[in-house]
Parts: sequence; C-alpha cells; structure tokens
Amino acid sequence: MRLPKFEYFEAETLQEAVSLLSKHKGKARGLAGGTDLLPKIKRRVTEAQVLVNLQGITGLRSISEEGGVLKIGALTTLGEMEESPLLKGNLSALAEAALAVGTVQLRNMATLGGNLCQDTRCLYYDHSHLFGQPVWEKCFKRGGEVCHLIKKGKKCFAVYSGDVAPVLLALGARVRVIGSAGERLLDLSEIYSGRGEQAYTLSPEELIAEIHVPKLSPSSYGAYVKYRERGSIDFPIVGAAAYFTVDKDLIKNASIWLTSVGSAPVEAVKAEAVLRGAKISADLIEEAARQAHQEIAPFPNHGYSVWYLKEMVNVFVKRACIKVWEDAKGGQA
Ligand SMILES: Cc1cc2nc3c(=O)[nH]c(=O)nc-3n(C[C@H](O)[C@H](O)[C@H](O)COP(=O)(O)OP(=O)(O)OC[C@H]3O[C@@H](n4cnc5c(N)ncnc54)[C@H](O)[C@@H]3O)c2cc1C
Ligand code: SF4
Repeated sequence: MRLPKFEYFEAETLQEAVSLLSKHKGKARGLAGGTDLLPKIKRRVTEAQVLVNLQGITGLRSISEEGGVLKIGALTTLGEMEESPLLKGNLSALAEAALAVGTVQLRNMATLGGNLCQDTRCLYYDHSHLFGQPVWEKCFKRGGEVCHLIKKGKKCFAVYSGDVAPVLLALGARVRVIGSAGERLLDLSEIYSGRGEQAYTLSPEELIAEIHVPKLSPSSYGAYVKYRERGSIDFPIVGAAAYFTVDKDLIKNASIWLTSVGSAPVEAVKAEAVLRGAKISADLIEEAARQAHQEIAPFPNHGYSVWYLKEMVNVFVKRACIKVWEDAKGGQA
C-alpha cells in the first residue's frame, strides 16, 4: 500500500511548525514518529495533503526535573521513557505504560506527543479505504450520518486506546501547548473531547510541546496494567492506571483512569471515592473494582461484548489496585 502524494516540510522550530500548520489549516498534519499517522494515511483512513515533520525541532526530546516537576518533551520516544532513570521508583508506572505500547521497533520511533494524540480506533473504520468504498455508507467519522458499530447510534463510538495517557492523568499531568495565538498550559484531560470522530480539543495548528507531571508525594505509589490479545504487539482491550497516596494503611488519595473504554480516557470516580480515606484491604479493593464495573460503560469496539468488557474493567482495576497496594507495602516496610 503506497502513501498518496503530499507536500512535505521539515520544521526546525515549534513556531515554524505552527505557522506551517496554520498556513495549510485543515489540510496539514504534524508528523512525529509517524507510527500512527502514516499507516492511517496509507490506508486512506486519514487524509493529509501536507505533512510537517516535527523531528527536527530541538529541545523537545528530553526528560528532566525542575523544582520537583517532571518535564517530558513531546518528541521523547517511548523507548527513551522506558529507560529513563527519572521514571523509576514511584514514577515507574509511566515507564511501564510506555513499555506496554506495541513493539520495540514502534517504541523506538513512537513519541509521547503522538501517543497522547493518536487517532481513535474503530473495528469498522480502521481498514483500507482504498477498496470497498462506497460499500460502507459514510459514517460519522467521515462526515456521514450513520454508525456501523452501533446501528442506531447518534455519534461515533471509536475508542481512544493510548497506553500512556491514563497514567499521566492519574498523576495529574498538564500539557504545554503552542499555537498561533501563543502558549497555553492545560490539564491533560482538557485535550480530549470525548468525541470519537474528532477526539481532540486542540486546534489544527496547535502542538503539544511538553508534558508536566507535578511533584509526587514520596508516599504515592502507582501501577498500569493492560489487557490485550497478543502480549507482543496489541493495543489495549482495557488498560487501567491507579495511583494512591498512603499513610501506612490509610489511602489519603486515589486516582484511577482507564483507556480503551471510550472515545477519551475515562476516570473511575466512584471507585476512587470508595478508596479515598479508607483503610486498604482486599475487600476494599474488591468493592472499588465492583464500583468501576458499575460506573464504566465501555464501547464494544474491539469485537467484545459490553458485558465482557465490563468484567475486564473489574478485573484490571482490581489488578492495578493490588499492584499499588503491594508496592506501598514494600515501600513502607
Ligand atoms: C502495529 C501497531 C501497534 C500499536 N500498538 C499500540 C499500543 O499498544 N498502545 C498505544 O498506545 N499505541 C499503539 N500504537 C499506536 C502508535 O504507535 C502510538 O500511539 C505512538 O505513540 C504514536 O506516536 P507517533 O510519534 O508515532 O505519532 P504520529 O503517528 O507521528 O502522530 C499521531 C498523531 O498525533 C499527532 N501529533 C504528534 N505529535 C504531536 C504533538 N507534539 N502535538 C500535537 N499532536 C501531535 C499527529 O499529527 C497525528 O495526528 C500502535 C501502532 C501500530 C502501527
Ligand atoms: S464507531 Fe465511529 S468510526 Fe466506527 S462506524 Fe461508528 S461512526 Fe464510524
């Protein structure tokens, strides 16, 4: 499958990238590792007449700590995250999430910015659009009026499947975004629209420059667990991230985020409420996982039923919490 013709630019600065994206608004895309974008363009799932390569921009490929805030440049690869000495100890869940993405070849190219902004996925939509068109009537994601997945659906149910976002969200991360109107610092959750057909709130010329993770209490512990079909390569069917701040066996704060259950990462707020302020125990974790099972309504976009996906939410929230508990016990011993 060949790439269609496109105009190609190599930006040397963020400002240059932003002005190129702005000049070709609606037709241009920023290209980072290309592991999500290029296969989609090849399959004609995504259209781009102009590609602006971001890889030449200096200063966006590092992991550093300033005043307790961890700063990760958007062009940092997932492979670099896996190996960073700064993503150890109670930040190792971030490295684990990076390691859970695809294969080693993908992680050597794939960037954090691209991972956070990857397109939402759909069983019906993510096939070559070179053949079979117009067998499928255009669905919401292509500007049509139907959804093939949920027959009477009034919106797109494509799922966001990034592995790293749930961990960053559980950590309360913020993103520094650069656009033609200047710079903004947003909560990471604000970049997700929750709409499968247009998953991001950023305007077409805006780029993420940096991800900021606020200072973490030494008594915070986290985990990321992922359920997938093939351990060697697959996107998550369900991914669960959990972070607890503890005082001995008391949970002072809890944050639980899931991926691959909706068009944006989803917070399990009722499960968090069960955990917050309570004494940690196996029964408590069971109850939190039960709450997550009740509150999360996964989109059946993996070929699995909603019933089964809800069961997996229960299992993987439980696993994430148990992992955090074990780490907390080890850390306080
Ligand atoms: C076989 C296969 C398996 C995969 N498995 C997984 C998996 O298990 N888990 C997972 O999470 N992902 C998976 N992916 C998807 C993809 O590899 C990752 O999401 C990767 O991190 C994307 O990063 P990239 O740098 O290659 O992004 P690109 O493909 O370059 O870009 C992706 C999108 O993000 C936008 N973008 C890139 N950088 C920025 C920025 N700084 N600011 C704003 N927008 C930006 C681009 O314009 C584009 O729309 C898989 C892909 C393949 C092909
Ligand atoms: S879920 Fe979205 S992409 Fe998939 S068929 Fe429905 S509208 Fe199209």
